[in-house]
Amino acid sequence: MSHSRVSRRTFLKTGASALVPLTARAARREGPVVIASANGAACVAEALRQIQEGADALDAVIAGVNLVEADPNDTSVGFGGLPNADGVVQLDSAVMHGPTGRAGGVAALEGVMYPSRVARLVLQRTDHVLLVANGAQAFARMHGFPIENLLTERAREIWVRWRENLSNRDDYLPPHRPEDRNIGEDIRRSYDHWGTIHCSGIDLAGNISSVTTTSGLAFKIPGRVGDSPIIGAGLYCDNDVGAAGSTGRGEANLENLASFLIVERMRQGDSPQDACLYACQRIADHTRLRRLLNDQGEPAFNVSFYALNKAGVVGGARIRGAGGRMAVADAGGTRMVDLAYLYA
Ligand code: ASP
Repeated sequence: MSHSRVSRRTFLKTGASALVPLTARAARREGPVVIASANGAACVAEALRQIQEGADALDAVIAGVNLVEADPNDTSVGFGGLPNADGVVQLDSAVMHGPTGRAGGVAALEGVMYPSRVARLVLQRTDHVLLVANGAQAFARMHGFPIENLLTERAREIWVRWRENLSNRDDYLPPHRPEDRNIGEDIRRSYDHWGTIHCSGIDLAGNISSVTTTSGLAFKIPGRVGDSPIIGAGLYCDNDVGAAGSTGRGEANLENLASFLIVERMRQGDSPQDACLYACQRIADHTRLRRLLNDQGEPAFNVSFYALNKAGVVGGARIRGAGGRMAVADAGGTRMVDLAYLYA
C-alpha cells in the first residue's frame, strides 16, 4: 500500500470520528448490542448470546437470522417464504462486515435454505460482492450446501389460491365461492408487507456487522431482485459510524439507497432514529407517481429502517403508521422498541 493511501485513510478515519457528536460519546453503552426488525426477537437474543461468548458480530447476526430463515411458519424469509409468480421460492440476502469493510450478497437464489450463509461465503471466498440466480446456486453447491425444495405446502397453497384468483377469464377454476373471484390482488396485498429480516450488531471488540435476508415480494415477477441484497439499500455498515437496514417496499429503497443515506446522516451527527426518519422523508419526497400515493399525496406503501451507531444507541422509523417496532438485545435483555413514523 502506498504511503499516500495510508495517509488518506488515516485522515478519513480521523475526520469521521471527529464528527461523532459529544452527546453520542457520552451516551456510549458498555458492551454489545443487537437490533433486528420486529420478527427478530429470537434472532437478537441468539446473536447477543453468541457475541457474549466471543463471536464476531458477522457470525452472530447470521446465526440469529438463520433461526428465521429455517422457520417454515415465517412466509417472508427462507424456507416457507412465499414464491414468485411461477411458484418458485427465490431468495435475496446480503451481509456486511464492519472491520474489513467487505460485503457479500446473493440474489434470486433458489433451493438454499440459508442464503445469508452463502452471502458470507461470497464475502469470504470470492473477490466479488454479488452472485445471482444459477451462478449463486452453483457457488452454494460448490461449498456443500444441499439444494432443497423450499416451497412448503402452506406457501404452495397460498400461491395456488393467488394464481387461480388472478382473473376470472383464464382457465383456472378456483374452488371458491363466486364472490371470491378476482381476489388475487387482495391475497398479494395481505402478504407482501410481511417480508424480510434485518439484523445488525456490535460485538465485544466494538466491531459492527449487518445482514438482511428475505424471500422478497410475494408473487414477484421471476428474477425480480429487491433491496435486501443490495449494499447501500437493504443494509449498510461502517465500522467507524454504525449500521442500518430495511424492510418494506424494496423498489422505493432501491431508488434512494436509504441504508447508505442513514449511515451518512449518522456520520454527520444524526441520532439513529433521526437518520431513519430522514431517509423516510427522502423516499416520500421522491415518490411522485400517482399510483404510489394515497388521497393525501403521501406514499401509500411502507418502508421501515433500523439503525444503531458506534456508541450503541439504537433507533428506527418507518413511513406509515404508529405501532411499528424493532427488536433490541443488550446487557439489559431483549425488548421491543417503537419505531418513529412520518405519517399516522
Ligand atoms: N424489502 C423486501 C423486498 O423488497 C421485502 C420486504 O421487506 O417485505 O424484497
